[in-house]
Amino acid sequence: MDEISPECMIKCQRKARKDHVCCECRRVIKDGIVYEFVSGIWDHEPSSFKTCTRCVVLRAAYAQVVEPYSAPPPFTCLFESIRERVQDEGHAWAVKFKSPIQNLAKTEEQATDLPLIASAPES
Ligand SMILES: [Zn+2]
Repeated sequence: MDEISPECMIKCQRKARKDHVCCECRRVIKDGIVYEFVSGIWDHEPSSFKTCTRCVVLRAAYAQVVEPYSAPPPFTCLFESIRERVQDEGHAWAVKFKSPIQNLAKTEEQATDLPLIASAPES
């Protein structure tokens, strides 16, 4: 595993005040859309990552279906990790991966309705 654990990390949800690009799918996170903001220090270097809600769901689903001892995929490597899993473990894994996505997508919809998240400041 080439995963580097952060020395410190904060994670919060923000509402975009301008267009951003998701670090995983490279799609635009449009102005006004809620996204996940993670900032921290990896290997003595500060970094930050913006993830669209769709990829947040995928990442959470991925964490639920991989073995508990596996490290989470590094930021920006989620899709690559999913592809590798599907290649290694085949269709059965893809099916297993699908059910938490559906459950999480429902929760995510409710979560983004919270007014608290909409008022989170963005620097
Ligand atoms: Zn994304």
